[in-house]
Formats: sequence, C-alpha cells, structure tokens
Amino acid sequence: MTEPAARTTRAQRLTMPLAREVVRELAIEHGACIRPIQLRRTNIDTGHVDQVLVPCGHTLANVCPSCAERARALRAAQCREGWHLEHEPDITPDPATDDQQWWIEKRAEAQVLRDQAAAAGTDTADLDELLTELDDEITKAGMRGKVAPARPARRHRSTRRRQDAPDLPRRKVTSRTVGKTYTAPDGKTFRPSLFVTLTCPSYGRVREDGTPVDPARYDYSQAARDALHFAALFDRFMQNLRRFLGYDVQYFAAVEPQKRLAPHVHLALRGTVSRTELRQVLAATYHQVWWPDTSTVRFGDGELPVWDEATGNYLDPATGEVLPTWDQALDAIGQPGAPAHVARFGDRFDAQGVLAGSKDSHRCIGYLTKYLTKQVADCHQAQTDPARAHAARLAEALRFEPCSPRCANWLRYGIQPENSRPGLVPGRCKGKAHDAEHLGYAGRRVLVSRRWSGKALADHRADRREWLLSTLGVSATDPARYSWEPVTPADPDHMAHARRLLHAVADRTRWQAALREARMRAAGDEEAVDVPATAA
Ligand SMILES: [Zn+2]
Ligand SMILES: [Zn+2]
Repeated sequence: MTEPAARTTRAQRLTMPLAREVVRELAIEHGACIRPIQLRRTNIDTGHVDQVLVPCGHTLANVCPSCAERARALRAAQCREGWHLEHEPDITPDPATDDQQWWIEKRAEAQVLRDQAAAAGTDTADLDELLTELDDEITKAGMRGKVAPARPARRHRSTRRRQDAPDLPRRKVTSRTVGKTYTAPDGKTFRPSLFVTLTCPSYGRVREDGTPVDPARYDYSQAARDALHFAALFDRFMQNLRRFLGYDVQYFAAVEPQKRLAPHVHLALRGTVSRTELRQVLAATYHQVWWPDTSTVRFGDGELPVWDEATGNYLDPATGEVLPTWDQALDAIGQPGAPAHVARFGDRFDAQGVLAGSKDSHRCIGYLTKYLTKQVADCHQAQTDPARAHAARLAEALRFEPCSPRCANWLRYGIQPENSRPGLVPGRCKGKAHDAEHLGYAGRRVLVSRRWSGKALADHRADRREWLLSTLGVSATDPARYSWEPVTPADPDHMAHARRLLHAVADRTRWQAALREARMRAAGDEEAVDVPATAA
C-alpha cells in the first residue's frame, strides 16, 4: 500500500473503506476462497484453453476463512456419517488395475537386481534410488502402503516395555465395529452411541479463566510432558477400550486445548460403554515414556556440544569425548529401570449417550469440529496479563523438554539425538511441539479410526460434489478430456491476485444463484432454502 499523496485529505480518506478490502469481505461473505489458485485448462480434443480458479483448500481460518469453513463442514459430515452406522462400512479394496500391476512387476524386477548387487558386494546406491522412485510411482498409481519397509526395522530393545494394563480384563477383539442394538418395550429398536471428553490430570488449581491460582505451584513440567505424549496416551486408551469391550470400537476424535491450555479430547464413539466401564479403562490406562533421564543439565547454554564433521558425532566441548548416541542412551536405561514419564488421563471425564439424528448429536458434532479451523494456541487467545503469563510459563517449560528422539534438546542432557546432524541447538528444536502455536501437542487435530465411515475425506468431498452436480442438473466434466497446468506469475495469461479474487467472487455469486434456483425448483415453491457454506 502506498502513502496517500495529499496530506490534507488523509484523515478523510482513511475513513473510506478500501475497495480491495471490500472485495475480500464480500468473498468471505459468499464463501469464496480468498487465495484462489489459477490453473490453465486445455481441452485435449479441441485445443480450447480456459482459465480455472480453484480454491486454496487451507484448513486454518486465519489463512482462508472460506476454505477453512468448507474443510470444517466436511469433517462434520464425516463425523455424522460414521457415528451411528448400522452396517459394517464396506472397505473391500478395489482389484488392482493393469497399470498398478505393471508398476509392481517393475518394482519386483528392481528388487531382484538390487539384492543381487548387494550380494555381489557392488554399490547399490543407484538401484536403491530406483526402488524409491518406483515406490513413488506405486503410490501415484493409487495403491496404499509400501511393498516393503523402507529400511530394516530399527531395534527397540530397551523401549519395549510392558505398556498393557494388567488390571483390565482382556477379551479377544472381533472385527465388528457396529455397536449393540437395543429394543424398547414398544418394539422400536435403537443403537445408542457415545460422546466422551477426556482431560489431562490436575497440575494445580485454576481459576474460571484457566489461569493457575498459585502459578509457583502449578506443575508446568508435568503439563508440558503430558501435552507432548498426549497422542500416544490416546492411542493406548483406544487399544485398551477395544480389548476390554471385545470389538473394534470406532471413533472420530478432536484434540483441542482447554482454557488452562492442557489438551483434551472430544470423541464420538460408535456404540456405547457404561460410565463404570469407562472409568475402569481410564484408571488402567497409562503411557510410559522410556526415554533417557533429563533431570540433570549436562551442557548449559554457554558450553554446548560441538559437531565433529569427520566422524559425524557431537562431542563434549571440554574433553572432546564422543557423546552417547540415542541407541546407547536407551540401552543405558537398563532393566528394570524407571520410565522418564508416565502419562495418564485425569479422573474427571464426561460421557453421554447420543442417538442418531437427535438434537444432542447435532450439538456434539458442533463441539467436535468447533476449533478445527484454528491453531491450538488461537482457540483461547490470552486477553489478560495472568493468561499471557500462564501461556509464557508453559512455553518456557516446553522449550527444553525433548519432543521426540530426534529433538535437539537431547544435547543439553549429554545425548546425541537420533539421526544427528550439524546445527542442532538445544532450546531451538524445530519440532512443532515447542512452538507457541502448538503448546506441546504436535499431533493431528482430528483422529479418525480406519473403519469409521469407511471413507476418506476425499470420498466425502466427492459425495458432496456429486450431490451438487445432481442438484444443479449438470454433468461432471470428464477429467480425461482436459490437461491442467498451473499458471505462474511469469506467464502472459497470469492473473494478478486482485483480478483472481474478483473472478472468484463473481463465479461464486453466479453459482450460488444457480444452486438456489435449482433447490427452489426441486422444492416446488418460492421459499428459498439457505445455501450451505459447504458447497464445493
Ligand atoms: Zn481458500
Ligand atoms: Zn524438539
């Protein structure tokens, strides 16, 4: 933005809305993407070229409110669809196509060549690279997973400890994913499901606004560690619950911070569990972290370990001694040893039965998707000094806490992180968990079990598009008839952002009008139904 030239009118001019801002606001109001991406679409048969603007697809509202809202609505649809399923979802994979089989054959041939080379003692670097490329092609051809593990599986001798819950009765887990049906006296059947909220334990009393009553006694270190291992604890809980109930319980879960900035998880569970059973599973669930001890700082800020280029190791700056590697440090924990940290859920939990299609289920889905368009730290913006101080103390506790085996912070405790490389500085680990935006939880915000709805997000998106096309009465464009390419700023047909935005608003308005008309036609009356903001 340039400075207005005439100073005398500056104050007046500042009160006028900026035209560009108005376009942006209008775009948001109509649910149009504010960062549309320009693609050049060429009809392969006729050679006709046109410009197509596609939404950026970002999931955070502070980047693109419209795309974030569409993503949230899609998650809500996914949640709704899986929650009360009455039949097992169909997830039989499609048979492989000729194309897919061809890539697998190539991969098999390359593997033989590589293994022969390795056996003969010749260099396998080129063939290894070929294997990686072929694996990429296999993924691109629409196949899931890898044909073989990328590297020989790492040994986990020292970390393999008892994690299961000895106090919990265990049943054999059947592949059933659908909950029990109940029959009411009047013969009506229903299949209740559950909405559960699990929280972390107490780290000290907090006020209504989530700030500690006594900051000096609030256990920030425990809070930081629990946040770092929250995802693993949740996994453990689901495993225990499945064993306890004896069927493959499915869930749609959303992780978000509470006001006290500790993570909690809301989950929609298919089927139902009693409060007593839940309490039993929760009490028996813990996650042990078998990491080296971090109670003593070996290298403070002024005396950091140095990288030795020749051997690829970090050395003690004073003695030149090579620091123990990650594997050596794990071995040194010894048997029986003690875990570095044990994460558990708090005693308090919330559970309520929810019936399909009820007002409650609608409300719960709202809860589950409420904060998905925000970064963890933006869910509860600190507005007061105590809230800001609380967030800062937690961030400080997270700063030197190791976030993973690869964390730079291990150097502070005299251990070389896994896959060490030059430039690692304790307190400046690039891991997401440390930054103020994530507050220790770097995992996924939405956790959906594999057999929830039997569909991936892309499938739900395709459903949505199909519904739209059929409502509008238009047929989908045949993807095989077009070639697509991105338009770069250097291209003569590149549209500047402002122009793209204007087009996006016009496209969207036209399109909404068409949808409204189609719906009115379908409803057969003049009462317009409101257009969902979820349209593709
Ligand atoms: Zn967008
Ligand atoms: Zn880290």
